[in-house]
Amino acid sequence: MRINIANIPVEGLQLDFMRKPEWLSVLIPDAGGLDAAVGDMAVHCFLRKDMQTVIIEGEVETRLSVECCRCLEKFDFPVRGSFRYELVPAETLREEEETELTPDDFDAGVYRDEVIDLDPIVAEQIILQIPVKPLCRESCRGLCLVCGGNLNVHECTHEQEQAPGPFAVLKDLKVNKKGG
Ligand SMILES: [Zn+2]
Ligand SMILES: [Zn+2]
Repeated sequence: MRINIANIPVEGLQLDFMRKPEWLSVLIPDAGGLDAAVGDMAVHCFLRKDMQTVIIEGEVETRLSVECCRCLEKFDFPVRGSFRYELVPAETLREEEETELTPDDFDAGVYRDEVIDLDPIVAEQIILQIPVKPLCRESCRGLCLVCGGNLNVHECTHEQEQAPGPFAVLKDLKVNKKGG
């Protein structure tokens, strides 16, 4: 979705559009455990100009297929996030700071040639919504340390030796199913 800033009226411009799930995997082929979006992406945003600065306020909503960090199963993760960007023309930055600009210009809050591309902004916002350690559920029991089986699915009689440290807290969550 490319917007020529000349088309943004004084009162601002409301844009509502959808993206198909495939769109995200094309834009971001591999994003840490993220396979692909499983639902359409609904984007709502409002653009307005303040002199040469363009302010974008928006909201994105979708569902992603994310890998659980404990049991490694994929699960549907609902995404809903709002964002706000202030973009200035790359040309003015170059004059003032002689900054070396990269293709990731939007990261630096700039646009070029009077055009704003909303797609990388939306994609970035979706990626930002994914937790660092996604869990399919709070009570996920993870994988058996001996046989590798998914303890959410299979009963397993192996003793689970929990390593001390960050995961020590999981001991309290361990459910003893033996002899039940
Ligand atoms: Zn899990
Ligand atoms: Zn086992």
